[in-house]
Amino acid sequence: MKRIAILGSTGSIGTQALDVIRANPGHFELEVITAHSNAALLIQQALEFRPNTVVIAREDLYEQVQDALQHQDIKVYAGTNALCAVVEMGTVDMVLTAMVGYAGLQPTIRAIKAGKQIALANKETLVVAGQLVTGLAKEYGVNIYPVDSEHSAIFQCLAGEFHNPIEKIILTASGGPFRGYTTEQLAQVTKTQALKHPNWEMGAKITIDSASLMNKGLEVIEAKWLFGLRNNQIEVVVHPQSIIHSLVQFEDGSLKAQLGLPDMKLPIQYAMGYPERLKSDFPRFNFMDYPQLTFEQPDLKTFRNLELAFSAMEKGGNMPCILNAANEVAVSAFLREEVGFLQMSDIIESCLAKVAYIANPSYDSYVETDKETRVQATELIRKGAKTSTK
Ligand code: NAD
Ligand code: MG
Repeated sequence: MKRIAILGSTGSIGTQALDVIRANPGHFELEVITAHSNAALLIQQALEFRPNTVVIAREDLYEQVQDALQHQDIKVYAGTNALCAVVEMGTVDMVLTAMVGYAGLQPTIRAIKAGKQIALANKETLVVAGQLVTGLAKEYGVNIYPVDSEHSAIFQCLAGEFHNPIEKIILTASGGPFRGYTTEQLAQVTKTQALKHPNWEMGAKITIDSASLMNKGLEVIEAKWLFGLRNNQIEVVVHPQSIIHSLVQFEDGSLKAQLGLPDMKLPIQYAMGYPERLKSDFPRFNFMDYPQLTFEQPDLKTFRNLELAFSAMEKGGNMPCILNAANEVAVSAFLREEVGFLQMSDIIESCLAKVAYIANPSYDSYVETDKETRVQATELIRKGAKTSTK
């Protein structure tokens, strides 16, 4: 029995993780669930799964959750501090980080320091502070199991091969809804179009990241830290069908890939159940439904975010932290329809040039960098970032 805490239980990953737990009552026990603002769904989940503890991040929603659960044997807390504290509970074995964005960094660090196993969906944590977080995981003897489908694929390919050096890894990318678009076409795309991903149903932020290829950029940096790779060992190939989830090439030239239908429940279950493969009734892949699996070079000139991510990774230090914060601000502004699709890259590029570079950041410097970048990015949006035609 693994006792699980889910940070972000009301989101796309969180609800699918609950599906996995519901289907495997003999393997997992739900100890903690947390959410930002969807109190109604959090209450419904608490009543169904009866976890030990529930946390709502927005303190103004505390009463609503507390009232609904007052006759249950469930503890209710509110606020960010509570969210960071519950991951340390003695009854928790594994923390699934399924919240979105930089907000995942602090609770992930707290969970690692408390010796909890991590199932990591929140890629932003490794983008912002990969060196620090993986260093702490080593120090506290904690494993970080990837939930992201590409990283899960690589992890699955590495099973039984951990002693064999990797030559390179190849991350596959669907290319998103705007694959093949020109810069002129991208300048016109709307929020509604960007929110329609061809293969995956995900939260709004990662769906926009997938449309701009920033998601792949974040995943390149995530892979570097998860698998201890040099920058030049990571490649991206566009594979529109999203059947091959990623590949590893070993030093003898052999390539191993992991395949399957695009369904996040499989990587979530693999991370939570590792080292077991639990029997599932997920739909099975049929080659005849996919007679053609195709591959393309990513278009870094048109989709500048991927290039910006590679360059932030090359420069290292706090650059990926700046990239992430600027992107979070830019994506929220795009979702509020305050900036166009291409302006997101302009904002990120400006922030990477403006915010002070720190070669060896401490935790406090990441916090400071994140804060400063948000101020800069917000200011750029206020002034009206120029519309890019680059
Ligand atoms: P989502 O928007 O659907 O859900 C986010 C969850 O986090 C919600 O439960 C929300 O209440 C909570 N949350 C958001 N902001 C918070 C804050 N400031 N404090 C506390 N809780 C907060 O997002 P998602 O699509 O489930 O993605 C979650 C994470 O998993 C992201 O980092 C994403 O990149 C990663 N991921 C998602 C998918 C996918 O298929 N959805 C695939 C790979 C990786
Ligand atoms: Mg992914």
